[in-house]
Amino acid sequence: MWLNDETKLKEILNRLVNVPSVSGTTKERGMAEEVYNIMSEIPYFQENQELLNLKKLPYDDLDRYYVTALLKGKGSKTVILLHHHDVVDIEDFGSLREYAFNPEKITEKMADFDLPEEARKDLETGEWLFGRGVMDMKSGAALQIALMHDYSHKINEFDGNIVLVSVPDEENNSEGILSAVPHLVELRDKHDLEYISVIKSESHQPDSEGKNDIAIGSIGKILPLFYCFGKETHAGNPFGGLNSSLIFSQVEALMEKSPEFCDEFKGELTPPPVNLKLNDLRGVYNVTTPQVTIGYYNVMTINSSPYDVLEKMKSIAKQALDNSIEIYNQRYDGFQNLAPDGVENSWGVSEKASLNWEPKVYTFEELYNSAYKAWGDDFLNDYNETAEQLKESVKDEREYSIHLVNKAHDYCPDRNPKIVLAFLPPFYPHVKNNRETEKEQFILDVVENIKKETREKFGLEYKVTEFFKGISDLSFFYVPESEDIANYMNPNMPALNRVYRLPIEDISKLDVSVVNVGPVGKDAHQYTERLYLPFFTQKAPQILEIAVNEVLNYNTKQ
Ligand SMILES: [Zn+2]
Repeated sequence: MWLNDETKLKEILNRLVNVPSVSGTTKERGMAEEVYNIMSEIPYFQENQELLNLKKLPYDDLDRYYVTALLKGKGSKTVILLHHHDVVDIEDFGSLREYAFNPEKITEKMADFDLPEEARKDLETGEWLFGRGVMDMKSGAALQIALMHDYSHKINEFDGNIVLVSVPDEENNSEGILSAVPHLVELRDKHDLEYISVIKSESHQPDSEGKNDIAIGSIGKILPLFYCFGKETHAGNPFGGLNSSLIFSQVEALMEKSPEFCDEFKGELTPPPVNLKLNDLRGVYNVTTPQVTIGYYNVMTINSSPYDVLEKMKSIAKQALDNSIEIYNQRYDGFQNLAPDGVENSWGVSEKASLNWEPKVYTFEELYNSAYKAWGDDFLNDYNETAEQLKESVKDEREYSIHLVNKAHDYCPDRNPKIVLAFLPPFYPHVKNNRETEKEQFILDVVENIKKETREKFGLEYKVTEFFKGISDLSFFYVPESEDIANYMNPNMPALNRVYRLPIEDISKLDVSVVNVGPVGKDAHQYTERLYLPFFTQKAPQILEIAVNEVLNYNTKQ
């Protein structure tokens, strides 16, 4: 058996880490192939080839694949084992970059490297393995693959089915799982499966008291865009316009780290928003003030729906416009005191622009509708044509969206300063356990049993956290607010169904509870990323087995 074979587990881990599957690159292709190859070495899948699938992402320029494998046992109860096989880039490894995907080599080389104290201590114990992906999350992937092997040998001994899903792009846009979800629905219908729970095996770092972590939810993420349109003016006549940079600066002052956006659920808090991008839409230098400045934010959720976030964005945008006008007026008054008659120069007099604008806040939906109302099919044709052309020239989904907002705005009859609000990809719905459905109640029992069994077996203490704090693909297994998403997210997301897909209907068909339980590691996404080997080879395999068995006990417990 693979799960209790230390050498085999390390061998699988090595094979997985050796493939440099950096997220958002063509290298992810080789990774899906390697997962497929390892799975093909399992006799069960040699005999049942149709149950092992290497599937192409349907809308993907990078030609990437995901893998699914179904162990068909008795009955319909089914547990899904989910992992991602991409990793973040290796820039931070510096001169050690060439060894980042060779765990043994890099662990050796780390000795000569300048390490933070904790990492050095861990290294000296000889119990930690370094390398990109060892923690996040190829160790979890190796455990799931090993479990598939072992259970395939005792297919007649348990009630239920197991589906393994191995996806790319989790660290990027989650295109992998978004493509896999419709296939999971197909599998369910074809083989008459009843999905009970998804188990993901991301590693965790025990807390300061040494407690391990099981998460029963996953944090959500929304990316709101503020498109600020000012009134341009020549630098020689500053009061002739309203600078879009000033408008955005007021948005930023109100949005950045604002506790107003923090959600709380059962004592756990989401972090406040941060700005991820700010720029004007001008390609070249000139002495006119920029007409458009955009910025977007990372907003984490556990309660707030797209509607809630949109309402908060509206009030911030309104306030930002008011503040900008106020600053403009104050500065004008100050300038007036210096030069009561105005200052003449070759651009004319630095006069107050006729501030009879009524700066407005638009949602993208409102902007789009106003453009359509004014121009009808002329707008629609140009907009759709642009959307098609941009697919070729603009590869970043966020940038693509901003171009479309800009295009719609070209047709908006209101040319006054304004802020347009939109949503950018990716969007991760939050998943939390509300203690409402039968499956939610059930997963709480499962978790209690895992805690009890691991305490008895290993003397381990687990604490249950309400949500996994890193963004994760678990977001796409359960959508609590599909109506809200349809009404407020979809019409305000220009990239949707063009370069970004959100199979909400399929997700609501899955409707499963989620749990994350995995190995122990430290410093994911850093060059000191490392895996604690004794836990990985001796405890994590049995803990995963316990979790799978508990989930497959579903019906018998009802
Ligand atoms: Zn991960």
